[in-house]
Amino acid sequence: MSIKVAVLGAKGRMGSESVKAISGTSDLEVVAQLDLGDSLEKLISSGAQVIVDFTHPDAVMGNLDFAINNGINVVVGTTGFDEKKLVQIKSWLAANPKIGALIAPNFGLGAVLMMQFAAQASKYFESVEIVELHHPAKADAPSGTAARTAELINEARASVKKATMPDATTSELAGARGAKIGDVHIHSVRLRGLVAHQEVILGDIGETLSIRHDSIDRTGFMPGVLLAIRKVGENPGLTFGLENYMDLN
Ligand code: NAP
Repeated sequence: MSIKVAVLGAKGRMGSESVKAISGTSDLEVVAQLDLGDSLEKLISSGAQVIVDFTHPDAVMGNLDFAINNGINVVVGTTGFDEKKLVQIKSWLAANPKIGALIAPNFGLGAVLMMQFAAQASKYFESVEIVELHHPAKADAPSGTAARTAELINEARASVKKATMPDATTSELAGARGAKIGDVHIHSVRLRGLVAHQEVILGDIGETLSIRHDSIDRTGFMPGVLLAIRKVGENPGLTFGLENYMDLN
C-alpha cells in the first residue's frame, strides 16, 4: 500500500519538484497539493499520512501545528527554525507520541555529507568559516544549512575542547565579519544565477582545506525528500537533520 502524501507549497520551486518526484514512485502517492490560501482541512479529507512542507518561514509553524495535532507525520524543508520553534514542535509531538517530524535544513545527500565532513575536519583546524551562496529570492539568512553546519562544527570542536578561533578584529563595519553562531562566522551571498551553494573553509598554520557543495538543480534534493517521506512514519518524535535517517557510520 502506498504512503499518502500532501505537499504544502506545491506551486513553489521545491514543492512542485516534490510533487513530480513523488508522482514518479510506485510506493508514494500525492493525495493533496496545497498552496497559499488553501484550507488545511484538505489534509484530513485527502487522508494524508505525511505532509511535505516547502512553504515560508512565516507559514510553516501553523501548518505543523495543524498536521501534528491531526495525527499526520511531517517532513519539513522550509527553513528558518530557531530553538523556540523547536521547543514548540516538541510540545505538539509530546501530545501526539506516535507522530514523526523530520526537519531537514538540507535534503541534498551531498550537502549532508559536506556538513558531516566539515564537522569532522573542524576538530583538526584552528580556524573555520562558512560562506553560503544562494539565489536572491531566498527569505532567510544565513541559510538553514549554514546554521546547521555551524552547530555541528561547534559541537565537534567542543567535544575535543578546541580553543576559540583566532580573530584580531577590533574595528569593523557592521556585518563585515558576517553572522556568528557559536564560534563560527557565516557569510551570506545573495546573487542572481545561483541556486544553493556552500563552502566551508578550514585553516591552520601552513594549510587550508575547502569543502564545497553545489546544488546545481533542485532535482538534487529529491532523493533526500523521498527518503524522508519513507522513513518519517517509523521515527516518532522530532528528528533534526537528514543525516539521522542515513547510515553514516
Ligand atoms: P517558493 O518557490 O517561494 O515556494 C514556496 C511556496 O509556498 C509558494 O508557492 C508560496 O506561495 C507557498 N506558500 C507560502 N505560504 C504558504 C502557506 N501558508 N501554505 C501553503 N503554501 C504557502 O520557495 P522555495 O524555493 O520552494 O523554498 C521554500 C522553502 O524551502 C524556503 O524556506 C527555502 O529556504 C526552503 N528550502 C529548503 C531546502 C532543503 O533542502 N531543506 C531546499 C531548498 C529550499 P506564494 O508564492 O503565493 O507566496
